[in-house]
Amino acid sequence: MTPARVLMNFEVTATSHTLEAYRARGGYQALEKALRTLKPEDVTQMIMESGLQGRGGAAFPAGRKWQGIDPYDGQPHYLVANADEGEPGTFKDRWVLEYSPHTLLESMAIAAYSLGARHNFIYIRGEYDLPYRRLAAAVEEAYGAGLLGENILGSGFATDIFVFRGAGAYVCGEASSLLGSIEGSRAYPRNRPPRMTVSGLFGRPTVVNNVETLSTIAWIVDHGAAAFRAIGTPTSPGTRLLSVSGHVRRPGVYEVELGYAWGRFLHEDCGGIPGDRPLKAVIPGGISSQVLTGKDAKVLTADEMEGLTLDHDVLRKAGSSLGSGGMIVIAEGTCMVRLLQIMLRFYHHESCGQCTPCREGTGWMHRIIDRIVAGDGRPEDLERLYTIARANDGTTICGLGDAAGYATVAMLDNFGDEFAYFVEHKRSRHQGNIECPAS
Ligand code: SF4
Repeated sequence: MTPARVLMNFEVTATSHTLEAYRARGGYQALEKALRTLKPEDVTQMIMESGLQGRGGAAFPAGRKWQGIDPYDGQPHYLVANADEGEPGTFKDRWVLEYSPHTLLESMAIAAYSLGARHNFIYIRGEYDLPYRRLAAAVEEAYGAGLLGENILGSGFATDIFVFRGAGAYVCGEASSLLGSIEGSRAYPRNRPPRMTVSGLFGRPTVVNNVETLSTIAWIVDHGAAAFRAIGTPTSPGTRLLSVSGHVRRPGVYEVELGYAWGRFLHEDCGGIPGDRPLKAVIPGGISSQVLTGKDAKVLTADEMEGLTLDHDVLRKAGSSLGSGGMIVIAEGTCMVRLLQIMLRFYHHESCGQCTPCREGTGWMHRIIDRIVAGDGRPEDLERLYTIARANDGTTICGLGDAAGYATVAMLDNFGDEFAYFVEHKRSRHQGNIECPAS
């Protein structure tokens, strides 16, 4: 398969994030094309036809989300870019923000035109300092060049983009709590319905899209929906940015065509596993996507796992997802009990506390796994973890509670023997393995 590039299609240099460099590689032509030759509904139709799916986790069709807003209904509408990239293992949007912030701004201006949004926000996680500074500088450059603000490119169209820094809560990556944070209230996820395209920011119709999703818009408008559909697979068109960490020789951010062979990606692109240790498991899309493993062939054999292709349908059928695009590779020798302890500490810490199953359940699971790791595990602890994890399924407002439960169940399903060993022997099966990142 010929590698296709939609976003990482230029050489990164010390200045590739500037407006001058962006324009030199064709930047803002798509915005000009949209404003001069397309009606707002044409842009939405183009995104529908492209088959672009959300790149933040749920893979919901972007065009269908946009269709929830009537640009001519006379109401204020808002567009929000979700740059609160806080999922452990996920740092792929950061690449866009750092190296090509104008791709996001141009795409947002096009999307704002399509949605009839006069005011737009980019909600960026507070810890992203360099990305924030580059983004803020890019916004200034765009205003200075007449690419944002009033009468953009002489078209009569006006739109503004505000950059809003988060304060470090993971839950603000959830779209509805992010809106609460912008409104100045406590960042609690909201029950739905109503959908955000009906009642979102300040109670007005709002579209929230992930940075990568939005950044793809300029390419689609520039090249056409058919060109985008020609990349990837029929059910997962286009490319995905993947941030790869864990046991690989070349961690980093990659752009892969959807449908790319995972074994090839691991061994050729990422350089394989250091020391050529066997693969134990992979978490394909941030820790909220379920671990995939060849262990005991309960889910997949090791060969089947390496034979997977990177697309939404294949990973869904395999029991996981591409999720947030944060791939964590785990080599043989890693203690999965310690890994789950780290994950549960995170979920417990980040639970906003609104829902009892999440607030109490993540705390209970965290305390049980702490007890196991301390050597005080009880024989009934594994069953107890299962019970608490399953109680979160579908009983919480946002996905954090679900994700904590699913991640726990997947670890216990696949590595139950390791957990039982830890409880029985009061130590890890991998104790003393200094290469274990969770040691
Ligand atoms: Fe808050 Fe957890 Fe409920 Fe989400 S699931 S709203 S994080 S308590």
